Amino acid sequence: MFLTITTTGTTERPATDLGFLLHKHPDKAQAFSTSYGTAHVLYPEAEPQRCTAALLLEVDAVALVRRGKGRGGAPDAALAQYVNDRPYAASSLLAVALSAVFSSALRGVCKARPDLPEQPRPLRIEVPALPARGGPDLVRRLFEPLGWAVTAEPVPLDSEFPEWGDSRYVRLVLEADTLTVAEALRHLYVLLPVLDDAKHYWVAPDEVDKLLRVGEGWLPGHPEQKLITSRYLSRRWSLTRQALERLELVRLAEADDSEVEELDNAVEAETETEEKPTPLAVQRRDAILAALRESGAARVLDLGCGQGQLVQALHKDVRFTEIVGVDVSLRALAIAARRLKLDRMGERQASRVRLVQGSLAYTDKRLAGYDAAVLSEVVEHLDLPRLPALEYAVFGAARPRTVLVTTPNVEYNVRWESLPAGHVRHSDHRFEWTRAEFRAWAGEVAERHGYSVEFRPVGPDDPEVGPPTQMAVFVRADKEEKAA
Ligand code: SAH
Repeated sequence: MFLTITTTGTTERPATDLGFLLHKHPDKAQAFSTSYGTAHVLYPEAEPQRCTAALLLEVDAVALVRRGKGRGGAPDAALAQYVNDRPYAASSLLAVALSAVFSSALRGVCKARPDLPEQPRPLRIEVPALPARGGPDLVRRLFEPLGWAVTAEPVPLDSEFPEWGDSRYVRLVLEADTLTVAEALRHLYVLLPVLDDAKHYWVAPDEVDKLLRVGEGWLPGHPEQKLITSRYLSRRWSLTRQALERLELVRLAEADDSEVEELDNAVEAETETEEKPTPLAVQRRDAILAALRESGAARVLDLGCGQGQLVQALHKDVRFTEIVGVDVSLRALAIAARRLKLDRMGERQASRVRLVQGSLAYTDKRLAGYDAAVLSEVVEHLDLPRLPALEYAVFGAARPRTVLVTTPNVEYNVRWESLPAGHVRHSDHRFEWTRAEFRAWAGEVAERHGYSVEFRPVGPDDPEVGPPTQMAVFVRADKEEKAA
């Protein structure tokens, strides 16, 4: 497996700067051992005018089979495991070697010459034998949108017998003047395995993070984003969906304000219109913040966080060290991300807050171990038969010490001037409870899961019909605290 990177230069910007960029000295041939064999880096040419670095991966086919053990096993497949194209064809293995050998370059870091990684330079990348499922056409569709001039020539199966037709390999040459070495490496790191479409190692959940990291700045909005993501993640549907959703969030977070405003308005129209112009939403947020501060919680879940108003308020208070907003709606999460200006936050601030997509109707390991969880105006959005599932996910599985639940008090609806008799406050409310109904539900939940519960009014507490919003404060019984 073989890949070369060539750049040209001038006396002021010598091509041999490539050595700095790759962190590999042009005068030396170096070898690195990787899990699949030995990677060699050498420079066939290193002049100020032109410099080429070559990465050659010598694959240990036996090590490869050992590592992949357990995948196949049919007797006639045994030999095919050893006699295959892995050692010769550029593929995901080359991508792995690339990231191992050029890890700083991939991250765009150059200690010796910090100015260099930022600078685009003329680049030419050649991969003599690249397995390309989808052929030259797909190769072009993947690389051209990124600014590469692409030459992808099919490699004939056997040059002496042209009638046998082409193999599934292409000779790939990429050329660009506008890209940096780091960008080039990131493109290759993702797209080589995508073209190979036979990933050699198991796709682990953190592959999604890796893909998003390496895809930063070029994958969101790529016309073949879907194909790239699904192939990179070996067509594992759940991972692919997760990655696509997160890419969409990144795209929206980067979108200009008008687009987000539009979405904002659309979602606004869908939610809670009846409560404008009352400041009830603000009163509710204040009541929640007060209860959370009292509880002493530092790590907080906002379950059904919607457009992130509470997440934002929590983020402003440094006592909350970790804030996780969860919602089933990607649109709402995208707006929340935009509201928080996650993309413009410093790393430290950004590390305190996360937005994740998930449904509260399913238990979710990611939600375990927090001090407190908030369900603000969420339970009434679930169909009653789904409520026990939410109850279990929150009180049975996640089990934070404190749980705050707010929900409308249906008795108060007669006080809303604009609300026709017998109507709920929002078209997506599946039910609204009286104070007695809410207390009965909350009491049973507390009983079933070992919590105590008390109730607080939010908004003006009408002597006849009670407050517009009711809040339950659940605290996990202490004995578990000690046992834990
Ligand atoms: N907590 C916010 C938003 C309330 S609106 C506030 O107090 O203003 C209800 C939110 O719950 C919506 O954003 C909706 O997308 C979310 N939601 C509804 N069902 C859900 C479910 N099963 N899992 C996660 N979120 C859900």
